Amino acid sequence: MKKICINCSKEYNEDENVFFCPDDGGYIIPENLKGDISKVVSVKDWIINLLILSIPVVGLIFAVIWANDDKNILRKNWASAMLIYMGILFLFSIFMSAVLFSIFIKL
Ligand SMILES: [Zn+2]
Repeated sequence: MKKICINCSKEYNEDENVFFCPDDGGYIIPENLKGDISKVVSVKDWIINLLILSIPVVGLIFAVIWANDDKNILRKNWASAMLIYMGILFLFSIFMSAVLFSIFIKL
């Protein structure tokens, strides 16, 4: 199966390890997904997604929903990555709190 750029439709081989088109920076996606994906990638959509994700609790719920939504592969992968990212930040903040707390205990 071929991969194509969503902006200029330039074709790439499946085994080529490229995610963004070198010519115009467009997402490179499997050819059979083009119809589904090209219409949902707009700056406005991403900003709305990011704003929703930054709402406490609600953002987390939406991230889980999106991460399981196969209808939009781009958003699904992005939401999965954001969940992992939020998990890392959460663990890191716990770790830093513990470090700071142990410092203050000694003072
Ligand atoms: Zn392109």
